Amino acid sequence: MKKNSSVLTPPNETGAIVLGTSFRRMSVRERRDYLAARLGVSGQEVDALTGDTNLTDLANVMVESAIGYMAVPMGVAAGFVIDGERVNVPMAVEEPSVIAAATHAGSLISRRGGGFTTVTDEPVMCAEVYLRDADSIPGDHVLKRFEAEVRTHLRDPLRAMNARGGGFRGLRVERVDDRLTAVRIYIDTRDAMGANLLNTAAESIRELAADRLGGESIMAILSNAADDRTAEARFTLPVEFCARGKRNGDEMAERIVAANTIANRDYHRAVTHNKGIMNGVSSLALATGNDTRAVEAACHAYATRDGRYRALTEYEVRDGALHGRLRLPLALGSVGGAVAFHPASRFALRVLGSPDSQRLAAIAACVGLAQNFAAVSALVGEGIQRGHMRLHANRLAWKAGARGREIAAVAERISAAHRFNDETADRMLAEVRAEKSRERAGNNGSE
Ligand code: NAD
Repeated sequence: MKKNSSVLTPPNETGAIVLGTSFRRMSVRERRDYLAARLGVSGQEVDALTGDTNLTDLANVMVESAIGYMAVPMGVAAGFVIDGERVNVPMAVEEPSVIAAATHAGSLISRRGGGFTTVTDEPVMCAEVYLRDADSIPGDHVLKRFEAEVRTHLRDPLRAMNARGGGFRGLRVERVDDRLTAVRIYIDTRDAMGANLLNTAAESIRELAADRLGGESIMAILSNAADDRTAEARFTLPVEFCARGKRNGDEMAERIVAANTIANRDYHRAVTHNKGIMNGVSSLALATGNDTRAVEAACHAYATRDGRYRALTEYEVRDGALHGRLRLPLALGSVGGAVAFHPASRFALRVLGSPDSQRLAAIAACVGLAQNFAAVSALVGEGIQRGHMRLHANRLAWKAGARGREIAAVAERISAAHRFNDETADRMLAEVRAEKSRERAGNNGSE
């Protein structure tokens, strides 16, 4: 591919469009229109990217080479009770069943089990400076002196964070392998995720670290592991409220525990089990403008903490109740980055009652646990496809051209027919419209 090519470079033989440096210099709409013209795209597909002028401008401020924004649906899973307080949870997600499942499980656990309880760590993040061929790890006395030096060195970059009650919380020096040494620094970032602060702090001490510990500094960067910043959610649900379909509560509770054991033993199942948890966590993270990739990387890594990838949840049946528990590393900010910057994230934070970062992490853990309880209950009960397909029917109805009240009417007919395909949707829409016009004709006749 040619570098610095003009934006008008014709498509290469594979059909891909070569975008030169002038593409970056265009306005958002110019980039969008340029691509649309070259790709022969028009109408809704193009309009959907830039329908709102403010959001279009915002996209340009937030990312490089913006062509608009991707409007993901945001909904609210209502009716959670968390540590005795009612919480409605905004969730941004494209998958149809996620909010419905969270709402169902969250409100069942809250009404019948007294809600969720949570415990959260202080919001402490870690960053590393990696040294190659450093001296052997010094004794406690030298390390204490080094830590004091680092604390002094970080006073200035951490002044504002210290004033908020956060700041430097100590360091560790560890051997990674026979050549590599990691200097891990720990910083309480209060309500921010803290990536930029940690990176700044780590970079500012890399030369000092190499000077005091020997060797060459290779890089300095925060760790997304966030395993010192966990949140735990729990619930206790009397088994009778676990009953589903033909299965009674005892049977269902026992099967939920069995499902968790399967996910602990077989990593193929564990991946999907944990993906279900992240349906809730990532949707809340996205709704609040948090970094979903950071949260997901941390949670999946945490699932391997005892050397094997396994379920993040734990369940047991005790004293006539199902006990569910989920602990996750959750570096969620209630300020910083896109959080409280994007207007939709500000709205989401208001729906949540303007939580601080620890409360937000606690809520995320509850949503993850509720989501998992919902998915596993369906899986070991009637299976997940029935509920999923009912929601999928709405999309088929839309694709067929149904709008407004037609959507529910067509979706109901698709579900009743158990035929989830485009042809059925077309047929049902035609039926609904025919009935509507017959009704209208009847009404007119009687006037
Ligand atoms: P940030 O750079 O916006 O810093 C947080 C800001 O919030 C600071 O200016 C701070 O002064 C202010 N603040 C106001 N009230 C605060 C309070 N009560 N507590 C804490 N801070 C308060 O954001 P950040 O959290 O440092 O970094 C998050 C961003 O960095 C995200 O967009 C993330 O995607 C991105 N990022 C991530 C990585 C990674 O995950 N590896 C790397 C680089 C950047």
